[in-house]
Amino acid sequence: MLTKELYETYSMKALEYLDEAGIALTEEERKNVEVAEYELGCLDKVGLELVVYVNTERCCAKELVLLPGQTCPEHRHPEINGEEGKEETFRCRWGTVYLYVEGEPKEGALATNPPEGMEEYFTCRHEVILKPGEQYTIMPNTLHWFKAGEEGAVVSEFSTKSRDEFDVYTDPRIDAAGKRNV
Ligand code: ZN
Repeated sequence: MLTKELYETYSMKALEYLDEAGIALTEEERKNVEVAEYELGCLDKVGLELVVYVNTERCCAKELVLLPGQTCPEHRHPEINGEEGKEETFRCRWGTVYLYVEGEPKEGALATNPPEGMEEYFTCRHEVILKPGEQYTIMPNTLHWFKAGEEGAVVSEFSTKSRDEFDVYTDPRIDAAGKRNV
């Protein structure tokens, strides 16, 4: 559960990273940093912080912060009532992002590992490493997960409409209780 204390600790840390990355935010945005902990109770391993700039019927933009070692759990954005699922582009602004998507698996060891003890819920092994200024577009209904390097990461996300409730997570515990669309 996300307690007030955890929220304050993690949102404050996230703001330090956003400042370090040179991302300008209004006071209102600074007060409204969101913390996604997916109801798993291990925010240091699975979770992330986000600032939502806009989310309309047609487009969405967010800033994501992954603290050192934090991972966004594997999920996909499916078609809803005949409407294509969410398409999203991740652009690294600061740090390093290890992104894993459906597709040709990397031969040998991955550059980073899924959270310990949760490997079965992280199936994608097609590796994309993003450094500042590099970006990658994930097409609708494509499984993906991503993790920050040891120094953490700040990532801009540009996408079509974001709808948390329809996302499909590989980990059934998140699918049942802890969805947060990224
Ligand atoms: Zn996503």
